[in-house]
Amino acid sequence: MYKRVLLKLSGEVLSGEGNKGFSDDKIDFLVEEIKKVVEHGIELGIVIGAGNVFRGTEFSRLDAKTADQIGMMGTLINALYLKAILRNKGIKAVAISSSTNSPSFEPYHYDTIERYLRTNHVVIFGGGTTLPYFTTDTAAAIRAIEIGADVLIKATKVDGVYDKDPKQYPDAQRIERITFKEAIEKGLKIMDMEAFSLCQRYSKPVIVIDFFIPENLLSAIIGEKTGTLVLP
Ligand code: UDP
Repeated sequence: MYKRVLLKLSGEVLSGEGNKGFSDDKIDFLVEEIKKVVEHGIELGIVIGAGNVFRGTEFSRLDAKTADQIGMMGTLINALYLKAILRNKGIKAVAISSSTNSPSFEPYHYDTIERYLRTNHVVIFGGGTTLPYFTTDTAAAIRAIEIGADVLIKATKVDGVYDKDPKQYPDAQRIERITFKEAIEKGLKIMDMEAFSLCQRYSKPVIVIDFFIPENLLSAIIGEKTGTLVLP
């Protein structure tokens, strides 16, 4: 069982795949999944994306650095939303970011973060890496390394990584376990290249799971076989 986990959530977990905004049903599901993890005493950090609000790459009318700033603001909106929703359900949660003066966020300080994790607060990181041209996958890899997480879990809509595109090839096989080196040799896309390379360099295991299967997140954390495990 992993004790400290960094969970990367796509913004679309708040809205439903391909949708914008916030869906009560999806959010209720998300909160239940997080609650199960917290009740197991797992120390949980979350990096949330902004696909439900704004993705820089979807706006070709704006220059990339402006679009990315807007995207990062989207992650702040989601971080705050998630914090409030978790607290409403009685789950201790804090939102952390140094890219806003909002009094609802605490600034990024290692000692504070450590204290919150050890006292079983869900620590939600907003603002991505703070830099344009990156994504929240990379922010998740950095935070996982910084907080010394035992694993980075990338919550997606597919149940892991396949040896070829399952939409194109019906005989595609899900890979249960693979090393970073093998994934590169086979040309598999696990996450953004920047994120992948950081996890490889700092030997941070990654699990890719289908978040929308009930209890799948907890199963991955307690070491049951699910999704794809990428190991150093
Ligand atoms: N973004 C950025 N730098 C970062 C993280 C995010 O510029 O370090 C911007 C980028 O425009 C991105 C958007 O924020 O498209 C939302 O993040 P992401 O696409 O990772 O969200 P997700 O797809 O996970 O919901």
